[in-house]
Amino acid sequence: MAAPGENMRVNADRLWDCLMEMAKIGPGIAGGNNRQTLTDADAAGRRLFQSWCEAAGLTMGVDTMGNMFMTRPGTDPDALPVYIGSHLDTQPTGGKYDGVLGVLAGLEVVRSLNDLNIKTKHPIVVTNWTNEEGARFAPAMLASGVFAGVLTQDYAYGRKDMDGKSFGEELARIGWVGDETVGARKMHAYFEYHIEQGPILEAEDKQIGVVTHCQGLWWLEFTLTGREAHTGSTPMTMRVNAGLAMARIMEMVQTVAMENQPGCVGGVGQVKFSPNSRNVLPGTVVFTVDIRSPDQGKLDAMRARIETEAADICSALGVGCAVEAVGHFDPVTFDPTLVASVRKAAEELGYSHMNLISGAGHDACWTAKVAPSTMIMCPCVGGLSHNEAEEISKEWASAGCDVLLRAVVETAEIAG
Ligand SMILES: [Zn+2]
Repeated sequence: MAAPGENMRVNADRLWDCLMEMAKIGPGIAGGNNRQTLTDADAAGRRLFQSWCEAAGLTMGVDTMGNMFMTRPGTDPDALPVYIGSHLDTQPTGGKYDGVLGVLAGLEVVRSLNDLNIKTKHPIVVTNWTNEEGARFAPAMLASGVFAGVLTQDYAYGRKDMDGKSFGEELARIGWVGDETVGARKMHAYFEYHIEQGPILEAEDKQIGVVTHCQGLWWLEFTLTGREAHTGSTPMTMRVNAGLAMARIMEMVQTVAMENQPGCVGGVGQVKFSPNSRNVLPGTVVFTVDIRSPDQGKLDAMRARIETEAADICSALGVGCAVEAVGHFDPVTFDPTLVASVRKAAEELGYSHMNLISGAGHDACWTAKVAPSTMIMCPCVGGLSHNEAEEISKEWASAGCDVLLRAVVETAEIAG
């Protein structure tokens, strides 16, 4: 006879139906979702999730950041819980799976354990983190950041959206200020299941991403000061061309990233020319360089080299150059025991898998500061995410959820 839990699988249809049901709340304009944090749609999504959890026998705790913790008790009163979490909020033109998959997969794990009549020594807590996306209230991963002690609650409450409404006011307005002190909970382990938001798993034809690291990043905002001048009547030898300096810096960033392969990336996604007129050389160019690496040493070395070479490029053109670091995360190494448990689960289930480094930030990157943490990734079609056309298959979703179930049960330990 099989040992308890040996053949356990989640219910693929139930997980998928839940994803589709949640997607009806805060629909987008092109088949995806607009369920931004602390909107009425967010509140409705929370209530639906709460009702599903309570029907599955979970009890709810909510902290002062609105983070939801749905607990399935364990048999050992002294054992710290195993957490499974992600986020139900979306981008303004977001998909149906980014974040949502991880929360509803946590619920599916609990429902499957209920079906199989499996009790665990450690409690299991399914978590919905408030405002992971940061689209409405920057920065991203705001509430898990407060939970991990990286940001303060006062700072979070004061964040404002484009209409000037604050996070604290909006959290109160939708009725989700809980009574738990944020960060007071202690975790035995934290698992997050998330879509890849990149093209690697699909291209490599793998079902499971075993996430070993989360990239660190620097956002470097450059302000280049040249001289506004007519593009027709200013001789080439008399120009102080901030736009040209920007172009050379962009090329240099590409070179630096390419010389740090594999693993490092660098590029520019935002440029502001001033005055941004067809026939005027820009007096000011502001742009942000985004560099990332899972290796702290490489990341900091790339930053130093980019700043030095940018200064040289600008001085050769007579352009003023100021740099400000406007964003930063340290790289994260996920807990080796949990990573091994995920890999073993994929192997035992016969699912194809590969190691991955998370290119984006996730709540797990913050929980890793306070608890052993790891992530599992699911392929997504074309690597497309933060887009209403974001797509995954039912089979992909349930394969990763099977792995999650197995790894969580191993970590939470089957009772008796
Ligand atoms: Zn996400």
